[in-house]
Amino acid sequence: MAGVPLDQRDGWIWFDGEMIPWKDTKVHVLTHALHYASSVFEGQRAYGGEIYKLREHSERLRRSAELLDFEIPYSAEEIDQACRDTLAKNNLVDAYMRPVAFRGSAELGLGAHNNPVHLAIAAWEWPSFLGADKLKGTRLALSEWRRPAPTSAPFASKAAGLYMICTLSKHAAEERGFADAMMLDYRGQIAEATGANVFFIKDGEIHTPTPDCFLDGITRRTVIGLARDMGYKVTERVIMPDELGDFDECFLTGSAAEVVPVAEIEGNIFEGREICKKMMEAYSAEVQPKKEAAE
Ligand code: PMP
Repeated sequence: MAGVPLDQRDGWIWFDGEMIPWKDTKVHVLTHALHYASSVFEGQRAYGGEIYKLREHSERLRRSAELLDFEIPYSAEEIDQACRDTLAKNNLVDAYMRPVAFRGSAELGLGAHNNPVHLAIAAWEWPSFLGADKLKGTRLALSEWRRPAPTSAPFASKAAGLYMICTLSKHAAEERGFADAMMLDYRGQIAEATGANVFFIKDGEIHTPTPDCFLDGITRRTVIGLARDMGYKVTERVIMPDELGDFDECFLTGSAAEVVPVAEIEGNIFEGREICKKMMEAYSAEVQPKKEAAE
């Protein structure tokens, strides 16, 4: 499917309770979400036909909407079922899924209480990969754009509006030959990459920024749990950019990205892969569908 524009593909998208042919899932240009970013979304993966941590993603989607002052007219159970139905209808087993909830086009005032809320769920094939190439690691620039203060934006919401800064950061990094950007927060502390959380390793211990103004990712929490189960000390703390040169290893986590080694952040080179590789393997084992105990 490479090269086919995303809106020209075949398949089915769940839209407000119905399965609609992929190419027909349209919204009007006067959609509130398009003008004012009244939109929240999720990103989750299915492995072997099962959607990993589906309930957590569905609950976060509802919570993200509440933080933007709107309610998704479906329960977490209903969203779970809609996600499973979307996967099945498209005959997908290993896939990426994108639920998105947004205010519609009944009116365009900023006050939006009377604007209906829509929910759509798309899924497409996007196999994860483990291998030598991935171990090479990605290169990040330090972004000029900063994560806003909690008083400026609802940081715990996976809100479309917050991704404006991410696209600007990523473009600026790409123009300078980097793959992605490491973002600082409003205080100048290390925060996260444009779509993934960050971890560092020094002397066999794991350090990660405290998520007090950026998304506390589901993968982030999973990896912290796995690492602690494996006996590693994990510390959530303030990490300043001038510490970057001290770390032996660095990796990113996210539902789409999974666990990805970082080779460089703006001239600071991370050569080690030992713990990173262990976390990649532990995560890829963790996401496999759980066999029933009786089997
Ligand atoms: N930060 C940002 C900005 C993201 O977009 C994502 C991806 N959802 C993450 C972190 C990682 O979150 P998760 O592990 O829940 O996918």
